[in-house]
Amino acid sequence: MCGVFGISAPARDVARLTYFGLFALQHRGQESAGIAVSEQGRLTGLRDLGLVAQVFDEQKLSGLHGELAIGHTRYSTTGSNAWANAQPLLHHGSARTVALGHNGNLINAGELRTEITGRLATSSDSEVIAALISNDERPLAEAVAAAITRLEGAATVVGLADGCLFGFRDPHGFRPLVLGRLGDDPVLASETCALDLVGATFEREIRPGELVIAGPDGLHTEQAIPEAGRGALCIFEFFYLARPDTRLAGVEVHGARVRMGERLAEEAPVDADLVLPIPDSGTPAAIGFSRATGIPFSEGLIKNRYIHRTFIQPDQGMRDQGIRMKFNPLAELAGKRLVIVDDSIVRGSTTRQIVQMLFDAGAAEVHVRISSPPIISPCFYGIDLASEDEMIAAGNTVEGVREAIGATTLAYLSLDGLQAATRRPETALCRACLTKEYPTRVPDDPAKLRFETARA
Ligand code: SF4
Repeated sequence: MCGVFGISAPARDVARLTYFGLFALQHRGQESAGIAVSEQGRLTGLRDLGLVAQVFDEQKLSGLHGELAIGHTRYSTTGSNAWANAQPLLHHGSARTVALGHNGNLINAGELRTEITGRLATSSDSEVIAALISNDERPLAEAVAAAITRLEGAATVVGLADGCLFGFRDPHGFRPLVLGRLGDDPVLASETCALDLVGATFEREIRPGELVIAGPDGLHTEQAIPEAGRGALCIFEFFYLARPDTRLAGVEVHGARVRMGERLAEEAPVDADLVLPIPDSGTPAAIGFSRATGIPFSEGLIKNRYIHRTFIQPDQGMRDQGIRMKFNPLAELAGKRLVIVDDSIVRGSTTRQIVQMLFDAGAAEVHVRISSPPIISPCFYGIDLASEDEMIAAGNTVEGVREAIGATTLAYLSLDGLQAATRRPETALCRACLTKEYPTRVPDDPAKLRFETARA
């Protein structure tokens, strides 16, 4: 999970615009943030651990000058090397220096690393992409197009090199990338919500396998992988990852999630007094469930919105408070039959704690409704789900999961129901963590891959 942004605008403050673009993409990664600028072909970057507003202040932004900029927000594994893997990364190769921001996970990074001569400063798969481009003596467009053909897995990328901004999506298009315009100036962003925030108009989505280059000669686009087709956009983007106000493949995500809740109500109705979401990701589906059943919607659980990964770690006594650090139930829930709606269950521990908290608050019944099918298999394309043995639904029945989370009843949305809510054909989406039908080969040693490559 990462957010990327890029802009080519010689007459504008590109670093400031990128800062605001990243601000809109903060939900895609809260571990680190960075911006790189190109001024007359000279690259400068600034990146650090923390939220966008923690990493940058007025002074830092005013030191970043240029005609082009890219930015990145990152969610990854934690650890001592996390700073080194913050992006945009800068890579000096034999042909050029490249600044690069990457969203996704490559599944052949290990193989590519063995081919690359020269030092790699990080354990990140993203640096492999930068190295391929920076060591290729051909003109930039040819070098990037050649790199795309070498990548297996997920790579939505923005970069700077040779006085140009470039961006591309891998042939499956697992992660989104859109092209917008601020006046005539091209803007690239993971999601349309970032275009909205900087005042850019949406032009179109970058197609799977397509490359875009913007520079002094204007905008050049080419289909680097002609046979890419409609690709395999991640269905998780629809039910969890993307911001609700984003439009994915022409579909506003909030509306899709409301439809998921409506369909869930049709598929698994229940007699109850209140419908409440697990905020914030369950909110649109809970609205849909409430609308379809006529059961009143309640905020029910009040969320502390200021907890994030850089939060000071609580001591053991407070950790025992568990989920109460994050949610607190309203008194109106006492004695009621509740339906709680969430977008997904992965390990089940959070859901179990919430169900228990609601019973402790006096709920008479707690019916859990999930607006996606059971997650049964890992993701190799950039979403840190968990390994299969940590997934509560893997190798388990719905009744087994219900028992484990302590709910009165449990129901998941069907795969057909989820698919219909996206208004996208089945062949245009990746659904592998729900079906085990992967659109690429499965890595031989996924555990090793997760260790060696940085999730972006
Ligand atoms: S495996 Fe799941 S999370 Fe990963 S890209 Fe496919 S649908 Fe998305």
